[in-house]
Amino acid sequence: MNAITEHMSLSTELDMSNYWMPFTANRQYKAQPRLLKGAKGMYYTTADDRKVIDASAGLWCVNAGHGRDEIIEAVHKQMMEMDYAPSFQMGHPIAFEAASKVAAVMPAGLDRIFFANSGSEAVDTALKIALAYHRARGEGTRTRLIGRERGYNGVGFGGISVGGIPANRKAFSANLIPGVDHLPHTLNLEHAAFSKGQPAWGEHLADELERIVALHDASNIAAVIVEPVAGSTGVLIPPQGYLQKLRDICTKHGILLIFDEVITGFGRLGAATASELFGVTPDLITLAKAINNASIPMSAVAASQKIHDTVINSGAANSIELFHGYTYSAHPAAAAACIATQDIYQREGLFGRAALLAPKFEAAIHSLRGEPFVKDIRNLGLMGAVELDSREGAPGARAYEAFLKCFENGVLPRFTGDILAFSPPLIVSEAQIDEIFSTVRMALRSIK
Ligand code: PLP
Repeated sequence: MNAITEHMSLSTELDMSNYWMPFTANRQYKAQPRLLKGAKGMYYTTADDRKVIDASAGLWCVNAGHGRDEIIEAVHKQMMEMDYAPSFQMGHPIAFEAASKVAAVMPAGLDRIFFANSGSEAVDTALKIALAYHRARGEGTRTRLIGRERGYNGVGFGGISVGGIPANRKAFSANLIPGVDHLPHTLNLEHAAFSKGQPAWGEHLADELERIVALHDASNIAAVIVEPVAGSTGVLIPPQGYLQKLRDICTKHGILLIFDEVITGFGRLGAATASELFGVTPDLITLAKAINNASIPMSAVAASQKIHDTVINSGAANSIELFHGYTYSAHPAAAAACIATQDIYQREGLFGRAALLAPKFEAAIHSLRGEPFVKDIRNLGLMGAVELDSREGAPGARAYEAFLKCFENGVLPRFTGDILAFSPPLIVSEAQIDEIFSTVRMALRSIK
């Protein structure tokens, strides 16, 4: 059987009816499936044995590249030794070791690590920790949460409530958690199209927080949550000075600042965290994805010692302080993968590598300026987006077609609406960066 017939028979023989695919146009996909069967380094292998460059690190998560032997071996060894252990009122050494590894790359002071299993769970955990903290310090009226338009904070009820994606909220509108306000998003093509790195325009958008505080009074507000760089809605880079201003306003009013670093954590921007890169330290950071190279579901919240100690010291020493946790918090296999992954990041200097490659990535993505339909290009670190003019009456169709063209020609980007997003593994080579964007150029020239 040759490769193409194998692929065809795979997708025609496969019974695709049972699997209800997440965030997928199920009918469209199943009519024309795109099957991946292998992954190594920078490449996926499709069911018809084509090599495809992973230009999006899976879903912004495989930062050390695919199929890393060190991670596989660590997980295997751990599974042979102990497959599972409860984390409630019990512990296992590598859970503590994994927490220390994560803490080591967090901003100073944010070294208390709570483990969960997905970005969505990390977000809900962070929101609950913020509420628990205020309650523990006797300010239980602080219950309101502030998110941001175009924010993606996962799909739990907490996450979609503080998140700002209309489609994610629409069907659940009546069930969103109450007491949530939203800051405006920071993307403005009129003032900041084709910015390289942080736009100069837009710091003042953080002042909206003062307006919300004036409306509700600070004594009612628990926390603000933002992605330092919004990923899923198309790579929205924070304007210069914006995050610091949010920090200052939060500090002034005793409001906790949460950075959702599920995408930006672990090197994506050329530093361990966006917090480090921007020099702005929040009170809580949510982490997931690249925490263990996406090899096993795992996420975490990094909390400041102050928040941790306040909650921990709030009751009797023999009482559970935070009634929260998951069956798989610090799962041994995920923890083993986390330790091995963090060791790879350090040994190979991958965060620094991302910083070194960022100018090359910036030049390559901005070389698409002037190509058909391109109305904005934005980038930071190894994260970038190309926004296209939407086709009349068919929003999203153009980016989908460009995405398909790229995939057929050996490159896998992300697409959202009419935006193509790029976030290659941090092991990407300069030649591969060129290949990614020359394929995108060809794709843009070939669509209507
Ligand atoms: N927060 C951010 C910033 C994300 O980008 C994502 C996922 O892309 C999430 C939360 C949710 O993560 P998960 O899909 O693992 O629940």
